Amino acid sequence: MFTVTLIPGDGIGPEVVEAAVRVVEATRVPIRWERFEAGTEVMNKYGTPLPDEVFNSVLKNRVALKGPITTPIGTGYSSPNVALRKRLNLFANVRPAKNLPGVKTRYEGVDLVVIRENSEDLYSGLEHIVVPGVVESLKIITERASLRIARFAFEYAVKHGRKKVTAVHKANIMKLSDGLFLECCRRVARDYPQVEYEELIVDNTCMQLVTRPERFDVMVMENLYGDIVSDLCAGLVGGLGLTPSANVGEDGIVVYEAVHGSAPDIAGQNLANPIALILCAAMMLEDLGETSAAERVRLGVYRVLSEGKVRTRDLGGSATTTEVTDAIIAAMEV
Ligand code: ATP
Repeated sequence: MFTVTLIPGDGIGPEVVEAAVRVVEATRVPIRWERFEAGTEVMNKYGTPLPDEVFNSVLKNRVALKGPITTPIGTGYSSPNVALRKRLNLFANVRPAKNLPGVKTRYEGVDLVVIRENSEDLYSGLEHIVVPGVVESLKIITERASLRIARFAFEYAVKHGRKKVTAVHKANIMKLSDGLFLECCRRVARDYPQVEYEELIVDNTCMQLVTRPERFDVMVMENLYGDIVSDLCAGLVGGLGLTPSANVGEDGIVVYEAVHGSAPDIAGQNLANPIALILCAAMMLEDLGETSAAERVRLGVYRVLSEGKVRTRDLGGSATTTEVTDAIIAAMEV
């Protein structure tokens, strides 16, 4: 029996998390869910969007499945999603982007993984007003975190039989910070002669991603580039409704969450695509050693997408979240 912390979050979070739970339950892998509310309403009740009991539960269980939590834009409390990553020391964000059967996109042959550094860079939240009208934001890059993420990317490549790691940077402009990041990647690359290593400037990376995405394999980058580039990669394979991710900590804690946010524009209407979170659940099952259950979930998703009859609006269909979930569960049983 596994115990998994479940954080439905807010916005479309509860809808897509519920869908993923139903799919996992259909695999009959014995999982006990420890469910915790988090987000805007919790903030109103307890004065924090993410109470301590949530952290304690993840620390205890080492595995969590999480829906998105809304971050107020411009003002208000800082991102609970970032707070969770920081407090649990989840330094690596793994975001695979792969063409899915039946999802027609402009690109074929996309099968890449963005490894995003999760703990520093411009996300350090160090901003201040120098004088009215002038603001300074600090970008923090450390040798320790850069070596750690580079090592993680190469280890990931070896473990998953991947051939190449691309370090993405802007060291021509940010010579010290991105220069340090690159230097760390180079040092680590020397330990993995069996994996090809290349460096690419972030703007060129974006251009090549939309012209020749099939040339990419594992990509490693700082936090902000990772945020932007991985959304771009989600777009290559059909959008945010389809892309899962895992946040991994130094001591093996993993929090699985979709790349998408809380999508307030469609929240509470049973319109959200649950597939990203269902694929997160498949990643989770695989990491728990339940490989055949993970495969069954993926097969269910692939079958429903290939048939193309039951799809949410983001994929051009008119099905609800519940209908897509039902179809996936039915397809898993075939
Ligand atoms: P955040 O800053 O929290 O990452 P965001 O501003 O990037 O959030 P999202 O909440 O991810 O934005 O939503 C971006 C767009 O994608 C919205 O129009 C939203 O409706 C759509 N979207 C996101 N997730 C889904 C989903 N699972 N199903 C359908 N549409 C989605």
